[in-house]
Amino acid sequence: MLKNNGKKTAISVACAACSCLLLLLLVAVQHHRLRDSEGTHGAGETRASSPDAAPVEARPGSAADRPGFSAYFTKLTRGRRELESRPGSSSSSAAAATTGDPPPAEDITADDIFIAVKTTKKFHQSRLSLLLETWISRNTQQTYIFTDGEDEELKKKIGSHAVNTNCSAAHSRQALSCKMAVEYDKFIESGKKWFCHVDDDNYVNIRTLVKLLSQYPHTQDLYIGKPSLDRPIEATERLADNKMKPVNFWFATGGAGFCVSRGLALKMSPWASGGHFMNTAEKIRLPDDCTIGYIIESVLRVPLTRSNLFHSHLENLQQVSRPEVHKQITLSYGMFENKSNIINLKGAFSVEEDPSRFRSVHCLLYPDTPWCPPQVAF
Ligand code: UDP
Ligand code: MN
Repeated sequence: MLKNNGKKTAISVACAACSCLLLLLLVAVQHHRLRDSEGTHGAGETRASSPDAAPVEARPGSAADRPGFSAYFTKLTRGRRELESRPGSSSSSAAAATTGDPPPAEDITADDIFIAVKTTKKFHQSRLSLLLETWISRNTQQTYIFTDGEDEELKKKIGSHAVNTNCSAAHSRQALSCKMAVEYDKFIESGKKWFCHVDDDNYVNIRTLVKLLSQYPHTQDLYIGKPSLDRPIEATERLADNKMKPVNFWFATGGAGFCVSRGLALKMSPWASGGHFMNTAEKIRLPDDCTIGYIIESVLRVPLTRSNLFHSHLENLQQVSRPEVHKQITLSYGMFENKSNIINLKGAFSVEEDPSRFRSVHCLLYPDTPWCPPQVAF
């Protein structure tokens, strides 16, 4: 009797366990289907559809369950394999990918990006040398310096990646547009997939930049950055017959950095290549970054894609929180409302030793740098 009862209990416990397992599996499939449909509908139209994005056909409770399950597990394994095989992939990026980061539309590397740094001869020592010691040192193949004077020391460091634009060294609208025009032409010549522009007071985190850009196909029209105004800029376009036409458009502030896909850059050519950029800038009488916005938003009707990961010193940099520093794409330093404006980071160096905070950021991102103090606990 006791034995029989024991058997019955064992059977009912086993049944309960089986039902629980079945329930768990059903919930897992449902959850996966939900996430899948969220992914396909929420991804936006600019993202390329990949075979991996195909929804999993799982109908719980029917015989068609099995192919659904196997597709689900195949997909998981494929995803994991893909992550593991990606160069430079770390456990943290794998963790990020499983916690809801959108899947890449394109598997790009830093080599697919053309980073143009705008500078002027008088800032080679005071600004550029800091960039060369920090982020550029890790990305010399991707980075081109656009300046306005010869510098043998600079040439020794980066060779042909130092471009003398022969533009005027003034901080005038024309001189800045002249440099942007050369940046654009060099990018087109390079054949790379993405054009990114930064000023010489920007730190660029290339890993997060690659991560962001890989979410979009470079063949589509993309203009990514951060507007410095909270409304479109109001300008007047000078027409051929001396008439004026009001135009409103958003633009990404050059001081925070911005990127343009090759697909879009090629379409900009009639207004941006050769001497056309200067003519376009003259038509609206605004600086270089506004001219880029004008060509893209106003002429080509492509809207700016906003990213909060780009930062200029025209915003309060104290608002970038310490645990978020490594997630940003660009940082800056300088003056804002007549006060010194830097990120708030307790890093490897004090503010006196490292007033821009760029050295401390660099040690945070690349602790193996020889001049970084060993194993600093921040
Ligand atoms: N710049 C330049 N020529 C000048 C002054 C500045 O090309 O005569 C560049 C500078 O190197 C930087 C950008 O223009 O990349 C913006 O300059 P800055 O940061 O001094 O001014 P901001 O507009 O940020 O206040
Ligand atoms: Mn600046």
